[in-house]
Amino acid sequence: MGIIEKVRKILAGYDRKKITIATVCSHSSLQIFHGARLEGFKTLGITMGDKPPKHYDAFPKAKPDEFMCLDSYTAIRDHESDLVAKNVIVVPHGSFVEYMGADNFNDLEVPTFGNRAVLGWESDRDKERVWLTSAGVPMPRVIERPEDIDRPVLVKYHGAKGGRGFFIAKDQSEFEAVDPKPPYHIQEYVVGTRYYLHFFYSPITNKGFKLSKGSLELLSMDRRDEANIDEMYKLGSQENLKDHGIYPTFVVTGNIPIILRESLLPKAFDMGERTVEKSLELFGGMIGPFCLETIVTDKLEFKCFEVSSRIVAGTNLFPTGSPYSDYMEPQMSTGRRIAREIKNAIKLKRLAEVVT
Ligand code: AMP
Repeated sequence: MGIIEKVRKILAGYDRKKITIATVCSHSSLQIFHGARLEGFKTLGITMGDKPPKHYDAFPKAKPDEFMCLDSYTAIRDHESDLVAKNVIVVPHGSFVEYMGADNFNDLEVPTFGNRAVLGWESDRDKERVWLTSAGVPMPRVIERPEDIDRPVLVKYHGAKGGRGFFIAKDQSEFEAVDPKPPYHIQEYVVGTRYYLHFFYSPITNKGFKLSKGSLELLSMDRRDEANIDEMYKLGSQENLKDHGIYPTFVVTGNIPIILRESLLPKAFDMGERTVEKSLELFGGMIGPFCLETIVTDKLEFKCFEVSSRIVAGTNLFPTGSPYSDYMEPQMSTGRRIAREIKNAIKLKRLAEVVT
């Protein structure tokens, strides 16, 4: 029996009146627990070490009802039956998948919110590009060979998290000065302003911004705060700083709330719609929250450099709603929206469509 069938069988045996929402205590867990509680679910926090982290005591409304303390993230696999006994639905976030490892997460015999099949498409930059470009979502140009560098580029590494190790080269000689070891990915450096669009796709909702199946919501938006590039101007120009051995880096340290000028919203929804429709075609759909990471140029054109297929940490800015979600329902965070989706799916007897 494959993992999908196994999980479907486990889910069929769940007591739908006693579902527990669980996640790993990191990333967006406070928001996920807070939202699940508002929707009436019990919550469980999976944490490392012999006792729960003390900082949860500081946030009583976001503290899970109970903790499961483990030695390592991979040990989650050894506790699958304990989680199943509690009717657990796991809500994955970026750190959850990263700490556990994509393969371990994929094989986890506990129902998880969303479609696991998306992992294979987002973790590989080449497949992600096939997905987005075939959907008609504009992306930064790829430069195949260093000798073809004819404009400023950003050199990225496969699977690099938080932009660590990325570097900017304004021409071929700057690239050669660094002489990076492959595999790397050379991409046009898009000059503009960044917007990280937090969408939610529901295959079981039939109102609002409708798609071929279900509907699309735009819940919020942020801009990531990245060290050192975002504040290095305080010390002088990038060129001068190189003489002191200081180079721009892109390590995410926090998030800032932001909104788009209203006339750009049609383009934003168009990209969201195309991304979901293509995902339905390619792998059965990207269900629940996802983020399009974009740059808007001075021609008012979007370039999307990445898709994150689950809740992103930028949504933590909006536990009580955002300038977008307020027009749908007050007090609606992405964490709460996930819990609401599970609640709606239970009501409609369609839980297996949003949990795999
Ligand atoms: P990523 O790991 O692809 O999310 O990229 C990390 C950071 O690098 C982003 O948050 C942006 O600040 C920056 N970045 C990524 N791609 C580009 C691009 N093509 N042009 C300009 N900046 C970029």
